[in-house]
Amino acid sequence: MRAVDIIAKKRDGEALSAEEIRYFVEGLTHDTIPDYQVAAWAMAVLLRGMTPQETIALTMAMVRSGEVLDLSRVGPRVVDKHSTGGVGDKTTLVVAPLVAAAGLPVAKMSGRGLGYSGGTLDKLESIPGYRVSLSLEEFFQTVERCGVVVAGQTAELAPADGKLYALRDVTGTVPSLPLIASSIMSKKIAAGAQALVLDVKVGRGAFMATIEDARALAEMMIRIGEGVGRRVTAVLSDMSQPLGRAVGNALEVREAIDTLRGTGPDDLAEHCLVIASEMLVLGGLAETAAEARERLSGVLAGGQAFAKFREWIAAQGGDLSVIDDPASLPRAPCLRVMRSPRTGYLERLDAREVGLTAVDLGAGRQRKGEAIDHAVGVVLGPKVGDLIREGEELCAVHARDESSAQAAEGRLLRAYAWSELPVLPPPLIHDILRGSQGTVRQSHWG
Ligand code: URA
Repeated sequence: MRAVDIIAKKRDGEALSAEEIRYFVEGLTHDTIPDYQVAAWAMAVLLRGMTPQETIALTMAMVRSGEVLDLSRVGPRVVDKHSTGGVGDKTTLVVAPLVAAAGLPVAKMSGRGLGYSGGTLDKLESIPGYRVSLSLEEFFQTVERCGVVVAGQTAELAPADGKLYALRDVTGTVPSLPLIASSIMSKKIAAGAQALVLDVKVGRGAFMATIEDARALAEMMIRIGEGVGRRVTAVLSDMSQPLGRAVGNALEVREAIDTLRGTGPDDLAEHCLVIASEMLVLGGLAETAAEARERLSGVLAGGQAFAKFREWIAAQGGDLSVIDDPASLPRAPCLRVMRSPRTGYLERLDAREVGLTAVDLGAGRQRKGEAIDHAVGVVLGPKVGDLIREGEELCAVHARDESSAQAAEGRLLRAYAWSELPVLPPPLIHDILRGSQGTVRQSHWG
């Protein structure tokens, strides 16, 4: 078999056999197929797509590229969560300690930023001392000791995904349904959780721009998960505008801390409660989402979730002084406030433009393995549906220097549109697909 023939076959729109997919995944895992061929193949997949059979074969080949964890020593029903990627999505930072404080252990392997979407590991690394690289033994010990651990995917788990993910990030090959589905499900299956809540983002700032595409991605991932005996719930959540107000690593950690202390933005708190409720139901700690929500709201309001957050950050070496005084998190030297050029209701706040601005400022990567700037980003003021008057604060740019702040301002202005008539904000949650238990519409949210 030759890599070039497999690339050409996919380029011509043919379906690959499970054997060809296995050969390609083994080659990329062991570096016998070079990056340029993997990148060409990924582009062919993005343009030509894959059948469900190919997508399942790709997922399982990536699972088999490394070890598979057995989390049964952590608890009878360990539940994981994963987001398909968005802008301002700091959900894990809130949900992991929230769920753990409610009694369900969270042992999670997270990723870095991908394209214009942020990554939990990059955010956590803005906390001085926080260790994302744990040995498997440390991973287990941490969750056993404090009920929550969030670390980088170890080299042993789905290494093929680790390599492909880093290449896709810098080759324009992220927004492909089969590549996203196999990437997420391979590492989640390898990471050993028995149940999984998928946060499938929809809209301009998501890799799936339409509800139809997001639903197809969610259904594909549910099919893959249930095929290997995992219970999967998918929450289709809005990403037409950023989640919360902060976009950028340290800024997002700060907002997560605010949310855990009860002073964060309402949309973020609501979103986290929805995801956490679904996790509690899958974990068997609540019969219904409503029951779970009541319990979680108590845990949040009572301060136990924030206490768990501190315990977790300390367990992974993070400096608690910055958690207790978030103003001491990394700060950008240049702060520019942008003011609204007109009066009106905000009609659009394009999450993708905001995400790309944050990457331009240095919060994300332009090249594989590049260092990022934890301090920079954007803090939004009003969001879609809010009335803003000319001259009022629209958002604040946190930049390394004046010239990047100026460039960011130019780009951000294009993210906004105003309307003279009142505008309804988009729903926060579009739908919840509860695996084989069927679909439940949740149109009352938002
Ligand atoms: N998240 C992942 O883990 N992989 C993708 O491909 C996209 C989002």
